[in-house]
Amino acid sequence: MTSELHLHLDGSMRIKTLIELARHDGIKLSSYEPDELLEQIKFKQGMTQEECLNAFSTTLSVMQTKYAISRIAYEICEDQRNKGIDYAEIRYCPFLHQQNGLRIEEIVSSVHNGLSMGEKDFGIKTAQIFCALRHENEEHSIALADLACYFSKRYPEYKIAGFDLACAEANNPPWRHDKAFEIVKNAGLKTTVHAGEVPESFYYLRYAICTMGADRIGHGTLLIKDEMLMESAKRLGTTIECCVTSNVHTGIIKSVEEHPAKKLFDRGVKIAFCADNTLLSQTTAEKEYRIAKKFLGFSDKELEKVKKYSDEARFR
Ligand SMILES: [Zn+2]
Repeated sequence: MTSELHLHLDGSMRIKTLIELARHDGIKLSSYEPDELLEQIKFKQGMTQEECLNAFSTTLSVMQTKYAISRIAYEICEDQRNKGIDYAEIRYCPFLHQQNGLRIEEIVSSVHNGLSMGEKDFGIKTAQIFCALRHENEEHSIALADLACYFSKRYPEYKIAGFDLACAEANNPPWRHDKAFEIVKNAGLKTTVHAGEVPESFYYLRYAICTMGADRIGHGTLLIKDEMLMESAKRLGTTIECCVTSNVHTGIIKSVEEHPAKKLFDRGVKIAFCADNTLLSQTTAEKEYRIAKKFLGFSDKELEKVKKYSDEARFR
């Protein structure tokens, strides 16, 4: 058993659920055949990060009701538990579920309802992470930061444990969202930042680690390029959420074998393997650990240590 620290709610539903919800709510999909639809929306090697993000418009189209949100959160619990996960942090941006007028309170409580039912039925522990969207302006992330603080204080049972910065990284520097991160950190929330996931984002990665002081980094693939920054990550105890399959899809590495996870690990940087999106990336944390053994040269003992890092980096 181990933890799943990096899992997007809107990229991790079952394909059959996506189709059922679309049929139920009269939402148009490009196909209603599971295999065909999956082939159309799943991430593929050579896609750009922007193209990957476009696939989310399909999944989000069916995630605009309380029932759909709760059901997807619930099923994620079952799927994760069946794949050896006993603790999962589910991340999402509440603002993306307002296409049909749901209130933020309804969205956050729907995620909570699904997760808490899943916890009871499947014996898993969960927490929520709010994702600020990096291409949006400062007001957007500040509003979300305020909501994260509100819900964590007013509804501790919702287990809002952390705050993230997500979405297309290119040309969207993290410093635009300094204020939001200051707000959540002052409220005692933990932070993670998607960074170093695309070429030319090295300075964003350095900023996220050294200036924002993120507890964890999503991807961080470019960290291997700089000895001093690796040293900083080690000293600060930053954990890198490695999503190998996802990184091949978005193209920051050309093949699984090129992933720097083992080099980072050997230098003493704390890493954890994560899925990113079980539907769109067609992987799970369990599969990522298997990939690490088969293609990156990790021994079983080393993978046990990675799982320990992962457990230690939980936000709750
Ligand atoms: Zn991600």
